[in-house]
Amino acid sequence: MDVGPEPKPLKDGLLQMEPFALLGAQCQSCGIMSFPARDFCPSCFSDSLKLVPCAKSGVIFSFTTIHIAPPGRKTPYDLAYVDLDDGVRVLSQVRSDVGSVSIGDRVILRAEPVVQSDASVRVGYIFEVTDHLNEECRA
Ligand SMILES: [Zn+2]
Repeated sequence: MDVGPEPKPLKDGLLQMEPFALLGAQCQSCGIMSFPARDFCPSCFSDSLKLVPCAKSGVIFSFTTIHIAPPGRKTPYDLAYVDLDDGVRVLSQVRSDVGSVSIGDRVILRAEPVVQSDASVRVGYIFEVTDHLNEECRA
C-alpha cells in the first residue's frame, strides 16, 4: 500500500519516521520511559522529559483475539500488551496467524499503513512475532 512520498504518522508526535520507532519520553530525573510521550513523568511527576525512540522489540505480556471491530477493520486479529525491552508497555495489534500468539513470544516493531476515513493513508505500527516462547507447550 502506497503511503506517498512523505508518509505521515497516524498522529503527530506518535512516531519517529526515520529510522522508524515509537516516539516515547524519558524522564530526566528517574529515567523511566513512557509511550505515548507525556508532559510529566508517570513515576516521579517530574516535567523534565526528553523525546526518545522506544525499543523496537519486546515480549507479549498478554493478548486477546478481536472478533468484532469497527467498520473497515478485518477480523479476527490479535491485540496485545507488549513489554518493550526498555520497560515500556504498549497496546498494539500483532501481525500473526490468529491463534498462534502466546504470552512470552518475542516481537518486533513494524510500520503499518492505516487507511483513514477520507481514504488517505497514514503510517501506524504493528508488532510481528519473531520467536515463539515455547513451541512444545502449544500441542
Ligand atoms: Zn521520573
